[in-house]
Amino acid sequence: MRNDPLPPFQTEAPAPELDFPQLAALVADLAQCRGLELHSGHGRSAWCKLVDGEFGARMGPLGSILYVRAESRARLEMLRDGWTADLASSFPGLAPDWSRLDDAGAPPPNFSLARLTRVTRLTPDFLRLRIEAPDLDRFSRQLIHFRLILQPDPQRAPVWPVIGAQGQTVWPRGDDALHRPVYTVRAIDAAAGWMEADVFLHPGGRVAAFARGAAAGAAIGLTGPGGGTIPHAKRLLIGGDETAYPALARIIAAQDPQAVGECHLFGRSADYPMPAHGGIRLHHAPQGEAALAARLATFGTDARAVWFATERSALAPLKAALNAGAAPGAPDPHLAVYWTATRKEPDHD
Ligand SMILES: Cc1cc2nc3c(=O)[nH]c(=O)nc-3n(C[C@H](O)[C@H](O)[C@H](O)COP(=O)(O)OP(=O)(O)OC[C@H]3O[C@@H](n4cnc5c(N)ncnc54)[C@H](O)[C@@H]3O)c2cc1C
Repeated sequence: MRNDPLPPFQTEAPAPELDFPQLAALVADLAQCRGLELHSGHGRSAWCKLVDGEFGARMGPLGSILYVRAESRARLEMLRDGWTADLASSFPGLAPDWSRLDDAGAPPPNFSLARLTRVTRLTPDFLRLRIEAPDLDRFSRQLIHFRLILQPDPQRAPVWPVIGAQGQTVWPRGDDALHRPVYTVRAIDAAAGWMEADVFLHPGGRVAAFARGAAAGAAIGLTGPGGGTIPHAKRLLIGGDETAYPALARIIAAQDPQAVGECHLFGRSADYPMPAHGGIRLHHAPQGEAALAARLATFGTDARAVWFATERSALAPLKAALNAGAAPGAPDPHLAVYWTATRKEPDHD
């Protein structure tokens, strides 16, 4: 039985073709992969709880019922779209008929049309993007991530998403398909109408290519916010590769001056400008995830907040050490995959 009030915004979709245990297993898997709070209602419902919403499923009269609840309309859209995408990955062809919220054809409430007004070289490996829009307020609260939406082909005018007949967001397809990677808000002044994100330059990166070639004021979209929040603790163990450096910088900047801890930089470079903090030591250990995992499995940790984000396979040993409770003393960790290395096909004769 739940004691907390239900978030006010909700949408549901019947899934008569899906047995509840299949969905409960998916919800549990997502909770584990993303470090989310998992809840179960007497084996009849299962949901992941975030700071400002939840998504999950319950047993229906026939099969199951999918649902999303949130504290705001914009957040509802975001969570519903994420849950729909996760469902589609596990149950190809599933198209939930979400209860309707808005007029078809309007922009989704979690979407902002913005402009890329400045691109500066922060370090040899990072570009800093200045993004301006009049409605950035929602990105300045607890959640620190967003999706950058862009048309990667500079020859094509972007076609933006709209709300479809079932209240779902309809994204353009084919040549109009948009690139939608996740980034971290590094700095924001919503009242002044700007925010900044730091983009790691890696081979083949479409965001970097777009940013380098974009005219000042180029149109981009933003959705969100989403993803994680900033942990606070007296003793921290945090780390990540370059894609996580902006989030690590925000975590360090937000800690009390008395906090202590370790921040492990697993990227090749370590010249990203991290905020100075007297108690949090930086360790540059390129690709050091496995070595740290071995240390944790043997010696444990006395940290009260554990946070890591890096490439999928590099995160695996940390997950194994921390999730199984193998690292003595570790609290529930936040372990997030920030990108996935694409496998190289073997050469054929
Ligand atoms: C919650 C969250 C927050 C994030 N915050 C940031 C952030 O603030 N700054 C940031 O730079 N990234 C961040 N990322 C990672 C970013 O979303 C991915 O790296 C994304 O793929 C970048 O898109 P792209 O257009 O550069 O590359 P894509 O065009 O999507 O990918 C092209 C190729 O590059 C590969 N690739 C992707 N990322 C990397 C990498 N880091 N190193 C080497 N190859 C790579 C892909 O596998 C693919 O083969 C975050 C991810 C998450 C989940």
